[in-house]
Amino acid sequence: MPSDERSPWRFRGEPLALEWEADGWHLRVVQPYRALKVYRCPGCDQEILPRTMHVVVWPEGSPQQRRHWHRPCWERHFTELRRGGERGRRRRA
Ligand SMILES: [Zn+2]
Repeated sequence: MPSDERSPWRFRGEPLALEWEADGWHLRVVQPYRALKVYRCPGCDQEILPRTMHVVVWPEGSPQQRRHWHRPCWERHFTELRRGGERGRRRRA
């Protein structure tokens, strides 16, 4: 994520918005006090409990495809995407 110097993530919007973009993905950090529902993380297929800091990610320009992820799950998934591209995605399927 953004703390890594090699990270492709670029800060976007206002400082308090906690929004970033990279490689056509848009990411928003959801603060614990704003996380009021239970979501299912597509990375590990486990629930994201309320009051848990997590991230919402969607393809740039397609906010209707947004997904809630545990932060480490998304980071792992994103690393795989960047490393393997389409090949990596097929291997998982
Ligand atoms: Zn997860």
